[in-house]
Amino acid sequence: MLNSEIISLAKQLHLSVISHGKYTPDENLSNEGFLLDLLRSEVESREKRAEAERIKQARLPAYKDFDKFDTNFQKGISQEQLDTLAKLEWLDNAFNMVLIGPPGSGKTHLALAIGNKAVREGYKVFFATMDTLMHILKTREISAKSAARTRWIAKCDLLIIDEVGYLPVSRTEANLFFGLISQLYENTSVIITSNKGFEGWAELLGDPVLATALLDRLTHKCQVLDFDDDSWRLAHREHIF
Ligand code: ADP
Ligand code: MG
Repeated sequence: MLNSEIISLAKQLHLSVISHGKYTPDENLSNEGFLLDLLRSEVESREKRAEAERIKQARLPAYKDFDKFDTNFQKGISQEQLDTLAKLEWLDNAFNMVLIGPPGSGKTHLALAIGNKAVREGYKVFFATMDTLMHILKTREISAKSAARTRWIAKCDLLIIDEVGYLPVSRTEANLFFGLISQLYENTSVIITSNKGFEGWAELLGDPVLATALLDRLTHKCQVLDFDDDSWRLAHREHIF
């Protein structure tokens, strides 16, 4: 056990392993070995806490991984492309991705696989459906929770917006969406999943000029993946009877 003054100093320095009395010095270590071991355990504990915080903030609704994504079923993406995406190097260059395809084609699965891997590799991620995201932006001035989420989004390395195009978008929402994409442009990767090709976005956003300006920013550095229309859900339906 370390003496009480050490523990109190550790508290002041926010060294959590020592201040919680969780560090047991190994008496066989040299001075340098002891210091190294102690600093390592503090850093390890800090990294673990940061990861737990990133996982919490990301709000990924389910765990999906790359290994479970069957590229034999979904021909819109090859195994080689999937492997390149899984390396996540494109996140460092703030590349965007737009996954377009009908329901059940695996868009959300792929977005979640990327999100889950990114969070574990140290990237800050936020996942929301378009609907939830719009709610957050619209209420950010009256809700502390929405304000906090908005701040997190601004700090993120990757924002995943799921289901763009399923629900109608109001004029205010279209403006907020444009504002967000402009704000994140070239700093944050954005993944969008949609059932609508870009040709449908002018109608979706209710303004062709705004849609063009938004797509211009979004697609400047962007990979568009067209998913084939085989539904995994339909092909793998489960029954009670
Ligand atoms: P979408 O978002 O395109 O509507 P999802 O990604 O939600 O579709 O996929 C629906 C279900 O089918 C999910 O449970 C998902 O894990 C599974 N799924 C879809 N495509 C594939 C695939 N190519 N390989 C493995 N599972 C898949
Ligand atoms: Mg989906």
